[in-house]
Amino acid sequence: MQIGLFHRQALAGILGLACAWGCDQPGASPPEPPAPAVAASLEPVKAQPATIAKSAPAAETDPPRQTKTATQGEPEMSTSPKPLKFPVQKSDAEWQALLTPEEYRITRLKGTERAFTGAYWNTKLAGTYQCVCCGRKLFVSDAKFDSGCGWPSFFRAIDEDAIVTQEDRSIPPPRVEIMCSNCGSHLGHVFEDGPPPTGLRFCVNSASVRLVPREAAEPDPN
Ligand SMILES: [Zn+2]
Repeated sequence: MQIGLFHRQALAGILGLACAWGCDQPGASPPEPPAPAVAASLEPVKAQPATIAKSAPAAETDPPRQTKTATQGEPEMSTSPKPLKFPVQKSDAEWQALLTPEEYRITRLKGTERAFTGAYWNTKLAGTYQCVCCGRKLFVSDAKFDSGCGWPSFFRAIDEDAIVTQEDRSIPPPRVEIMCSNCGSHLGHVFEDGPPPTGLRFCVNSASVRLVPREAAEPDPN
Protein backbone atom coordinates (compact mmCIF):
# COMPACT_ATOMS: atom_id res chain seq x y z
CA MET A 1 0.00 0.00 0.00
CA GLN A 2 1.48 3.27 -1.05
CA ILE A 3 0.45 5.16 1.98
CA GLY A 4 2.17 2.62 4.09
CA LEU A 5 5.54 3.80 3.07
CA PHE A 6 4.81 7.31 4.06
CA HIS A 7 3.51 6.33 7.38
CA ARG A 8 6.25 3.97 8.06
CA GLN A 9 8.66 6.79 7.44
CA ALA A 10 6.73 9.75 8.60
CA LEU A 11 4.97 8.34 11.58
CA ALA A 12 8.01 6.56 12.85
CA GLY A 13 10.09 9.63 12.36
CA ILE A 14 7.66 12.31 13.18
CA LEU A 15 5.86 10.65 15.95
CA GLY A 16 6.96 8.77 18.89
CA LEU A 17 6.39 12.07 20.42
CA ALA A 18 4.35 12.78 23.35
CA CYS A 19 0.75 13.61 22.74
CA ALA A 20 1.59 17.03 21.55
CA TRP A 21 -1.84 18.24 22.41
CA GLY A 22 -0.97 18.46 25.97
CA CYS A 23 -1.39 14.97 27.21
CA ASP A 24 0.02 16.10 30.43
CA GLN A 25 -2.47 14.11 32.36
CA PRO A 26 -1.15 11.41 34.63
CA GLY A 27 -0.59 8.27 32.76
CA ALA A 28 -1.17 9.91 29.46
CA SER A 29 2.40 9.98 28.33
CA PRO A 30 2.70 7.58 25.48
CA PRO A 31 5.33 4.93 25.53
CA GLU A 32 8.11 4.81 23.03
CA PRO A 33 6.51 3.56 19.87
CA PRO A 34 7.43 0.07 18.80
CA ALA A 35 8.05 1.17 15.26
CA PRO A 36 8.47 -2.21 13.59
CA ALA A 37 5.27 -3.58 14.99
CA VAL A 38 3.30 -0.51 14.10
CA ALA A 39 4.66 -0.30 10.62
CA ALA A 40 2.83 -3.41 9.62
CA SER A 41 -0.48 -2.14 10.79
CA LEU A 42 -0.82 1.23 9.24
CA GLU A 43 -3.25 0.34 6.54
CA PRO A 44 -6.23 2.08 8.09
CA VAL A 45 -4.62 5.39 7.42
CA LYS A 46 -5.28 6.16 3.82
CA ALA A 47 -4.62 9.41 2.12
CA GLN A 48 -6.50 10.71 -0.82
CA PRO A 49 -4.64 10.33 -4.06
CA ALA A 50 -4.52 14.05 -4.45
CA THR A 51 -2.82 14.67 -1.21
CA ILE A 52 0.30 13.43 0.35
CA ALA A 53 2.20 10.30 0.65
CA LYS A 54 2.68 9.17 -2.86
CA SER A 55 6.32 9.85 -2.64
CA ALA A 56 8.85 9.04 -0.07
CA PRO A 57 9.95 11.70 2.36
CA ALA A 58 12.65 14.03 1.23
CA ALA A 59 15.18 12.20 3.28
CA GLU A 60 14.74 9.16 1.15
CA THR A 61 16.96 8.75 -1.83
CA ASP A 62 14.75 6.52 -3.88
CA PRO A 63 15.08 7.15 -7.57
CA PRO A 64 12.23 9.17 -8.98
CA ARG A 65 9.49 7.00 -10.31
CA GLN A 66 7.06 7.68 -13.03
CA THR A 67 4.16 6.45 -11.03
CA LYS A 68 0.97 7.80 -12.42
CA THR A 69 -1.02 9.47 -9.73
CA ALA A 70 -3.72 12.02 -9.45
CA THR A 71 -1.59 14.34 -7.47
CA GLN A 72 -2.03 18.03 -7.95
CA GLY A 73 1.66 18.44 -7.68
CA GLU A 74 4.23 16.31 -6.10
CA PRO A 75 3.51 16.04 -2.44
CA GLU A 76 6.37 16.96 -0.27
CA MET A 77 6.89 16.49 3.38
CA SER A 78 8.03 20.03 3.67
CA THR A 79 7.43 22.74 6.15
CA SER A 80 4.97 24.49 3.89
CA PRO A 81 2.38 21.96 2.81
CA LYS A 82 0.57 22.77 -0.34
CA PRO A 83 -3.16 23.32 -0.21
CA LEU A 84 -5.04 20.11 -0.61
CA LYS A 85 -8.05 19.66 -2.82
CA PHE A 86 -11.21 18.23 -1.39
CA PRO A 87 -14.53 17.36 -3.02
CA VAL A 88 -16.47 19.63 -0.70
CA GLN A 89 -15.46 23.26 -1.03
CA LYS A 90 -17.06 26.17 0.79
CA SER A 91 -16.08 29.70 1.53
CA ASP A 92 -15.17 30.75 5.03
CA ALA A 93 -18.47 32.60 5.25
CA GLU A 94 -20.37 29.48 4.30
CA TRP A 95 -18.56 27.39 6.87
CA GLN A 96 -19.18 30.00 9.53
CA ALA A 97 -22.86 29.94 8.70
CA LEU A 98 -22.96 26.17 9.06
CA LEU A 99 -20.87 25.72 12.17
CA THR A 100 -20.75 26.99 15.68
CA PRO A 101 -17.85 29.34 16.41
CA GLU A 102 -16.06 26.54 18.26
CA GLU A 103 -16.60 24.05 15.45
CA TYR A 104 -15.40 26.59 12.93
CA ARG A 105 -12.31 27.44 14.93
CA ILE A 106 -11.31 23.81 15.27
CA THR A 107 -12.28 22.35 11.92
CA ARG A 108 -11.51 25.20 9.57
CA LEU A 109 -8.77 27.00 11.48
CA LYS A 110 -7.09 23.87 12.83
CA GLY A 111 -7.81 24.64 16.43
CA THR A 112 -7.82 22.31 19.39
CA GLU A 113 -10.37 21.98 22.12
CA ARG A 114 -9.23 21.72 25.67
CA ALA A 115 -8.67 18.21 26.93
CA PHE A 116 -11.53 16.61 28.86
CA THR A 117 -13.96 19.27 27.72
CA GLY A 118 -15.37 17.90 24.48
CA ALA A 119 -18.66 16.11 24.10
CA TYR A 120 -17.22 12.71 23.28
CA TRP A 121 -13.91 12.21 25.03
CA ASN A 122 -15.53 9.87 27.52
CA THR A 123 -18.67 8.67 25.82
CA LYS A 124 -19.18 4.99 25.21
CA LEU A 125 -22.33 5.27 23.15
CA ALA A 126 -22.45 2.99 20.15
CA GLY A 127 -22.70 4.71 16.84
CA THR A 128 -20.93 6.38 13.99
CA TYR A 129 -18.87 9.55 14.22
CA GLN A 130 -19.42 11.78 11.23
CA CYS A 131 -17.62 14.87 10.09
CA VAL A 132 -19.36 17.86 11.63
CA CYS A 133 -18.76 19.85 8.47
CA CYS A 134 -19.88 17.53 5.71
CA GLY A 135 -21.36 14.42 7.31
CA ARG A 136 -18.72 12.04 6.02
CA LYS A 137 -18.63 8.93 8.21
CA LEU A 138 -15.21 8.89 9.85
CA PHE A 139 -15.11 6.57 12.84
CA VAL A 140 -17.22 3.93 14.52
CA SER A 141 -17.58 3.50 18.24
CA ASP A 142 -16.22 -0.03 18.01
CA ALA A 143 -12.79 1.42 17.32
CA LYS A 144 -12.96 3.95 20.16
CA PHE A 145 -10.84 3.36 23.19
CA ASP A 146 -10.02 5.12 26.40
CA SER A 147 -6.66 6.72 25.79
CA GLY A 148 -6.74 8.86 28.88
CA CYS A 149 -5.64 11.89 26.90
CA GLY A 150 -8.92 13.76 27.12
CA TRP A 151 -9.95 13.55 23.48
CA PRO A 152 -11.96 10.92 21.64
CA SER A 153 -9.47 8.33 20.48
CA PHE A 154 -9.84 5.65 17.85
CA PHE A 155 -7.46 2.95 16.71
CA ARG A 156 -8.71 3.11 13.15
CA ALA A 157 -10.91 5.10 10.83
CA ILE A 158 -14.14 3.73 9.46
CA ASP A 159 -12.52 2.99 6.12
CA GLU A 160 -9.27 3.58 4.34
CA ASP A 161 -10.52 6.56 2.40
CA ALA A 162 -12.05 8.48 5.27
CA ILE A 163 -8.96 10.28 6.48
CA VAL A 164 -6.27 12.34 4.83
CA THR A 165 -3.05 13.09 6.62
CA GLN A 166 -0.36 15.66 6.31
CA GLU A 167 2.61 16.69 8.31
CA ASP A 168 1.93 19.40 10.85
CA ARG A 169 4.86 21.54 11.87
CA SER A 170 2.81 24.36 13.32
CA ILE A 171 4.37 23.73 16.69
CA PRO A 172 7.24 21.49 17.60
CA PRO A 173 7.55 18.63 17.56
CA PRO A 174 6.16 17.69 14.14
CA ARG A 175 2.95 15.72 14.16
CA VAL A 176 0.70 14.08 11.61
CA GLU A 177 -2.54 15.95 11.16
CA ILE A 178 -5.70 14.07 10.24
CA MET A 179 -8.43 15.60 8.12
CA CYS A 180 -11.74 14.58 6.65
CA SER A 181 -11.03 13.37 3.13
CA ASN A 182 -14.26 14.86 1.86
CA CYS A 183 -14.03 18.45 3.06
CA GLY A 184 -10.60 18.88 4.61
CA SER A 185 -11.95 19.47 8.06
CA HIS A 186 -9.24 19.40 10.69
CA LEU A 187 -9.94 16.48 13.00
CA GLY A 188 -6.85 16.16 15.12
CA HIS A 189 -3.67 14.11 14.86
CA VAL A 190 -2.65 10.49 14.66
CA PHE A 191 -0.03 9.01 16.93
CA GLU A 192 1.71 5.69 17.09
CA ASP A 193 0.88 4.89 20.67
CA GLY A 194 -2.49 3.28 20.12
CA PRO A 195 -3.60 -0.19 21.07
CA PRO A 196 -3.76 -3.31 18.92
CA PRO A 197 -4.57 -4.19 16.29
CA THR A 198 -3.25 -1.05 14.61
CA GLY A 199 -1.04 0.54 17.22
CA LEU A 200 -2.45 3.89 16.16
CA ARG A 201 -4.29 6.55 18.07
CA PHE A 202 -6.47 8.89 16.09
CA CYS A 203 -6.80 11.76 18.53
CA VAL A 204 -9.90 13.68 17.49
CA ASN A 205 -11.55 16.87 18.63
CA SER A 206 -15.10 16.26 19.74
CA ALA A 207 -16.06 19.45 17.97
CA SER A 208 -14.91 17.99 14.66
CA VAL A 209 -17.33 15.10 14.72
CA ARG A 210 -20.93 14.32 15.45
CA LEU A 211 -21.97 11.00 16.95
CA VAL A 212 -24.96 9.39 15.31
CA PRO A 213 -26.10 6.74 17.77
CA ARG A 214 -26.68 3.27 16.51
CA GLU A 215 -30.36 2.83 15.98
CA ALA A 216 -32.31 0.76 18.43
CA ALA A 217 -33.70 -1.31 15.58
CA GLU A 218 -30.19 -2.22 14.70
CA PRO A 219 -28.88 -3.91 17.81
CA ASP A 220 -25.22 -4.30 18.48
CA PRO A 221 -24.05 -7.47 16.76
CA ASN A 222 -22.39 -8.52 19.98
ZN1 LIG B 1 -15.86 16.50 6.20
